[in-house]
Amino acid sequence: MSILAESVAGYLEHASWIRRMFEAGGQLKARYGAENVYDFSLGNPDLPAPPAVAEGLKAFAEHAHEPFAFGYMPNGGYPWAREKLAAHLSHEQGAHIAAEDVILGCGAAGVLNAFLRAVLNPGEEMLAFAPYFVEYGFYVSNHGGVFKAVPSKKDTFAPDLDALEAAITEKTRVVLINSPHNPTGVVYKRKEVAAIADLLLNKSQQYGKPIWLISDEPYRFLAYDGVEVPSVLPLYPYAVAISSFSKSLSLPGERLGYAAVSPLLPKEEKAQLMAGLTLTNRILGFVNPPVVGQHIMAAALGSQVDLSIYAARRKAMAEVLTEAGYEFQMPAGAFYFFPKAPGGDDVSFVNALLEERILAVPGTGFGCPGHFRLAFCVDESVIRNAAEGFAKARATVK
Ligand code: PLP
Repeated sequence: MSILAESVAGYLEHASWIRRMFEAGGQLKARYGAENVYDFSLGNPDLPAPPAVAEGLKAFAEHAHEPFAFGYMPNGGYPWAREKLAAHLSHEQGAHIAAEDVILGCGAAGVLNAFLRAVLNPGEEMLAFAPYFVEYGFYVSNHGGVFKAVPSKKDTFAPDLDALEAAITEKTRVVLINSPHNPTGVVYKRKEVAAIADLLLNKSQQYGKPIWLISDEPYRFLAYDGVEVPSVLPLYPYAVAISSFSKSLSLPGERLGYAAVSPLLPKEEKAQLMAGLTLTNRILGFVNPPVVGQHIMAAALGSQVDLSIYAARRKAMAEVLTEAGYEFQMPAGAFYFFPKAPGGDDVSFVNALLEERILAVPGTGFGCPGHFRLAFCVDESVIRNAAEGFAKARATVK
């Protein structure tokens, strides 16, 4: 008999592909040396945080001896931090965002959980396009909801509006989109996002209850060649942008995230939602967002990691994959490639890459077999040095 809840024991038994790769990578690194293993499995940004982060940290350290420097605060974050973030987001999102429209929490992951806890009734559904960030399913079931994947358009991974429309039922409470997208690097176009908002407006009317639209957007800052990342907030009253500084400031371990609600949301409902989120931030045990993170954020808002480094790596990876004969779509944003698995079987192809000491994650782990994900948060030399292995693995499949 397991001492664990059945669901958790089940999760452990079917360990995620990212975790399996992490373990396989550890063994390869111990055997061949870390420099001889080409690890594209993790979306853990390797770039240093921009200088404003260290400056904010130093400025805060000057006050660290004061009473309550690390004290509890309102559950949605310091009022001054919310004000600063709101001013920044108004500019970024092209919509007037007030301090009472934003709430801070523990990473995008923590805020997604706080939001789902606040809105889901047992058995209600959240829909997201496949492929998808695998954690979504866990987050939804944490709160008694049901996660449903909707296929995106074949090969382009653009949102399939017909498939979304067909999947929405009276049980649908939330639709989540993620752009720039993990794992495909796709950035949704303005007309696609507007069409999703229109569909949800119609469906909300049809079922007589609002369907929330979450835009999970920790990669918003990272779009290449001037591609636009349209905001959902001015388009739909029940839209919420959820994000963090994990990627834009390379701060994933500091766990600061936020939600910003549409300024179109009627005032009373907004007050209700914010009260709900403040409560769920607390009762999920997050209590409040990290103190240090908020000080860093205030000093570093508007800064970001050096995007030209990601752009150069993207170019290098595209060259390596093209040279070796892989089929892929150039990512318009984020730091992932999602090529087709030669031969069609992503799991066996990822094993062929492992033979070359290359770590990748099969698309199966993202609800999309037949592809595999490569994260390029690694030095450009790792990409170049993996070229031979990519070519050899490719040659094993006709
Ligand atoms: N959403 C997506 C699509 C992600 O890729 C990630 C992290 O990789 C997250 C959410 C969670 O980010 P955070 O570190 O802010 O919790």
